[in-house]
Amino acid sequence: MRTSKTPDCCCGHPKQTMSLKSVNFSILNAGEIRAASVCEVFEKRTADKGIPLKNGLRDPRMGPAQGICVTCGLRQGACHGHFGHIELCEPFYHISWALSVVHWLKLTCKDCGFFMGKKIDVDCARSRYLQTLVKKLHSKCPSCEQKPSKYSWSRDTQQITANGEKYDTSDVLAHLNKIHASTLKKLKMSHPTNMLLEVIPVPPPNVRPAIMAGDAVRSEDDLTYRLLQVIRSNAKLKNLKDDSRPSHIIASAREATQMAISGYFNHRKVGSAKKRSSTREYASVASRLTQKEGRMRGNLMGKRCDFTARSVITGDDTLSMKEVGVPISVAKKLTIPVKVTDYNRASLQELLDGDSVKFVVRPNGSRVDLSFINKATIKLDTGYTVERCLRDGDIVLFNRQPSLHKMSLMAHEVRVLPYSTFRMNLSCTTPYNADCK
Ligand SMILES: [Zn+2]
Ligand SMILES: [Zn+2]
Repeated sequence: MRTSKTPDCCCGHPKQTMSLKSVNFSILNAGEIRAASVCEVFEKRTADKGIPLKNGLRDPRMGPAQGICVTCGLRQGACHGHFGHIELCEPFYHISWALSVVHWLKLTCKDCGFFMGKKIDVDCARSRYLQTLVKKLHSKCPSCEQKPSKYSWSRDTQQITANGEKYDTSDVLAHLNKIHASTLKKLKMSHPTNMLLEVIPVPPPNVRPAIMAGDAVRSEDDLTYRLLQVIRSNAKLKNLKDDSRPSHIIASAREATQMAISGYFNHRKVGSAKKRSSTREYASVASRLTQKEGRMRGNLMGKRCDFTARSVITGDDTLSMKEVGVPISVAKKLTIPVKVTDYNRASLQELLDGDSVKFVVRPNGSRVDLSFINKATIKLDTGYTVERCLRDGDIVLFNRQPSLHKMSLMAHEVRVLPYSTFRMNLSCTTPYNADCK
């Protein structure tokens, strides 16, 4: 993040404002995840006889269930929680970056690490940048003339394949490590090996609170179960490797661990739909963000805001197509700010006598609420702003969700009408996809 200081203002006061120039995003590498972590999590159970286990998923260092936090000293509720981490016994794919890893493999010569894209266009749109680069590739390496393999991501086995054969994670890492530092610098991108996970950050328990019945834990959150699956399968794989068991047994344990990790991040991207059981699946990190009930659409996206009204629509053949009928109750609430000029001062002053002006804003910014003041004392002058109610002829934006195309939001002239519904000419139903039955 870069900030720049604006020069002192004319009256000599140092200006406090800092302007934001740009924000850079990059991928956390394993070292950064470990540095931000307060504890390693490896216990296969969360609690023993009701007491959270040390190095378990409810380790008190990640944030207290009650009382004071041992890490930051704040009480439960004030402490925001602290991340832990799980050490994986070997690198695994992050399901959301698997395709990016495939793109990087395509963009890098396996033998000499030469950049296989035909051009590096730094100015092109940053979103889907890799997809753009991957579209124009050399058919063989310009440096060593090696023909590139065909890489793809297998959703069923959660593995990368090269020419249809399984491409081991260790080979993928060796391949990606050949990328020239100058290429990454030119592209201004994080090193693609960071897209493979050596360490998984464990969110604090207040992100995934246990379901309590009185003082006892009745059930854990879905994410806790997902993380438990990761810890268990990772520990099993580690044991098998330590015991030097046959390779096919290790391979199937490795696949199970990859499935558990992918399932933790985004369970909808794992395996084919047929394989899924009919029982309810545990939610994953991605399902907290996406879909209608997710954080974005469910909590963050605006539902209502100032200077808007919402009601039922009905048809009205007495309105023209450019008009929208607005209920009196709405017109009395919504206001439009009008700047006082030499031309409209007299008419606005006259308007003050009625009850259609709610506020007057003086040039110094102070707002006068006219419901608490003797209106006769106010003398409008140029530079004042009058906030008056809606009236016939005002232009407003009229919208009907789900707003699938731009004609779902159009400008109309207001006509204030009795009753409580918005009225529109029936010829306008098509663009809004409305049906006035
Ligand atoms: Zn704390
Ligand atoms: Zn090459």
